[in-house]
Amino acid sequence: MNPAIELALKQAVTQLTNAGSASPQLDAAVLLCHVLEKPRSYLLTWPEKELTDAQSAAFSALLARRESGEPVAYITGEREFWSLPLKVAPHTLIPRPDTERLVEAALEKIPAAASVLDLGTGTGAIALSLASERPDCQFTGIDLRPEAAALAEENRRALQLQNVRILCGSWFSPLSETERFDVIVSNPPYIDANDPHLVRGDVRFEPRTALVAEDAGLADIRHICAQSRTFLSPGGWLLLEHGYQQGEAVRGIFYNLGYQQVITVQDYAGQDRVSLGCWSV
Ligand code: GLN
Repeated sequence: MNPAIELALKQAVTQLTNAGSASPQLDAAVLLCHVLEKPRSYLLTWPEKELTDAQSAAFSALLARRESGEPVAYITGEREFWSLPLKVAPHTLIPRPDTERLVEAALEKIPAAASVLDLGTGTGAIALSLASERPDCQFTGIDLRPEAAALAEENRRALQLQNVRILCGSWFSPLSETERFDVIVSNPPYIDANDPHLVRGDVRFEPRTALVAEDAGLADIRHICAQSRTFLSPGGWLLLEHGYQQGEAVRGIFYNLGYQQVITVQDYAGQDRVSLGCWSV
């Protein structure tokens, strides 16, 4: 006999706790909902409902993957960001709540009818959430990896956002040299290759190209800061996500390259997370 929903969840929580998951309740609920193809409220409404053989087997298979450390978002193939359902895959970073801070900060800087660039768009999370808020503006998302660009385009189409174009290439390379943007945003790789954080939890399964940068994690930030001076309209803004210990270093990079009004804003945990500067020639 198969367990009912309530018991299946309880057993799953024990299994995932023993495997060292930091969020066993949430993981178990999300995976079971994925198997049942139901919203979370269903679990509370039907605790006595018995799983079918197929559901029970499918749930066990997903739990085994989670037990081995695979991120829930890769198992279900989706993650919500800025209240938008996004498809995710192992060749993109899993969108994080902290990156919503970058979206908020960018929304304050985007003028009417603006042109906005998102570098290293991955799932498209930043470009698509901004586009959903600002139908008056045009957005460009660029990613190095063809699989990521294809996924961002798939997310764009599913969300029916007509004001976004997704391009594939390294940083600014797919753009024509005459293009200008009012705002440039990026959540680039910024982790140092020796950071112990890389061998723990979900990040172990994420693409290194999306996480790690040379030069104590600052190489890509430096490159984007320098190149953005060519592609920003006068008075345009550059906003970059970075590590919680990189605020001072990143502000220094902005200043040395001639940006003005440089500030750092904190994430929801109160840590430095996003720095921005104005390019006014
Ligand atoms: N914020 C992510 C982490 O620390 C990394 C994201 C990134 O490198 N852009 O896990």
